[in-house]
Amino acid sequence: MKNFENFTDYDRKENLHFESKAIHGALGNDPITGAVSFPIYQTGTFRHKELYKTTGYAYSRLQNPTREELERTMAILEEGLEGFAMSSGQAANMSLFTWLNPGDHVLLTDDIYGGTYRIGNDIFGKYGCTFSYVDMCDIENVRANLTEHTRMVFIETPTNPMMKVADIAAIAELAHSVGALVVVDNTFLTPYFQKPLTLGADVVVHSGTKYICGHNDVIAGLVVVKSQEMADHMRLQLKSHGNGLAPFDSWLLLRGLKTLQIRMDRHNSNAMKVANWLRTQPKVQDVYYVGFEDHPQYELTRRQTTGFGGMISFHVDSFETVQKILRDVDMIMFAESLGGTETLITYPRTQTHESLTEETRQKLGITDTFLRLSVGLEHPDDIIADLDQAMNG
Ligand SMILES: *Cc1c(COP(=O)(O)O)cnc(C)c1O
Repeated sequence: MKNFENFTDYDRKENLHFESKAIHGALGNDPITGAVSFPIYQTGTFRHKELYKTTGYAYSRLQNPTREELERTMAILEEGLEGFAMSSGQAANMSLFTWLNPGDHVLLTDDIYGGTYRIGNDIFGKYGCTFSYVDMCDIENVRANLTEHTRMVFIETPTNPMMKVADIAAIAELAHSVGALVVVDNTFLTPYFQKPLTLGADVVVHSGTKYICGHNDVIAGLVVVKSQEMADHMRLQLKSHGNGLAPFDSWLLLRGLKTLQIRMDRHNSNAMKVANWLRTQPKVQDVYYVGFEDHPQYELTRRQTTGFGGMISFHVDSFETVQKILRDVDMIMFAESLGGTETLITYPRTQTHESLTEETRQKLGITDTFLRLSVGLEHPDDIIADLDQAMNG
């Protein structure tokens, strides 16, 4: 690996493994000072030497070296062309959806993140775009709902919160046959476990707030694109909406990326233990975890991902049990969000999936006895003991 002397010549470190790429980033260290921790360029604007002579930077809304290092590192990890770091996952999705024109149709996963559902129906619906939500586990549902107006297919896999898995390669092939753009929300698995662009998707979007950050201390969004056309689209949005991620938050994500692999491996092994324990519990009815060998799409998961992640959801026997668990958890916290070091328990009905209609929630299984768990990095026995005392104590 060479030491770079400017901000332009970075390398994609093709010869390195994922872990090493995540740690060494695009430039890796500061090209000017050699600082091993990439500096936080906390500046709004940049001085020019003379007319027509620039360092490549002008104004931080457009570009900032710290944000750029994060964007390039994400593009390397997702194996895409360019990355964009934005102020939230929602900001990232808003910028992506402005790619639609009036009259366009979008096909989305049915139990999609509530905020994505809101962007579709409540915002772009106003501009004449239409949205269909289908269970993408069955490829026939995708085929049957594609129209000549379908301009985007938006896949979340595994889904939030029902943990259904969709076949990215098969859906991409179908979507491309009608000329639709394929977007995958890769928040739950991260590029460490799943690389949608290598399976045929055109765009990957993340809530960087979750596993990429990993410490429950930043709100961020990330987009990685494969084509120059989408890169130009995203660059214009970022410049116009002014929703680029701040330098300090970009640095926190770069720091988070350095431990992504060990965190994901531990989230995965902890979740497997907790999921297996939940299954033995008399008050627990159904446990949804993509790592179960009897999960309906287990074979597909083994084919398109290299791990299962740390997200579990489950139904309990009664609403009283839900109330008791949420009141009595001690180390585990009753809070929205996921993907951090702390184990969080969520009540999707009134938290993450409040935007959905009651009818949709019932259809999906997001009932008043349904809970979601983001398994953190504490000792798995402590997580289990806390759930046990909260549920059965
Ligand atoms: C949290 C989340 C989002 C939204 O991201 P924010 O960073 O909260 O704006 C989108 N998709 C998924 C799957 C999420 O979990």
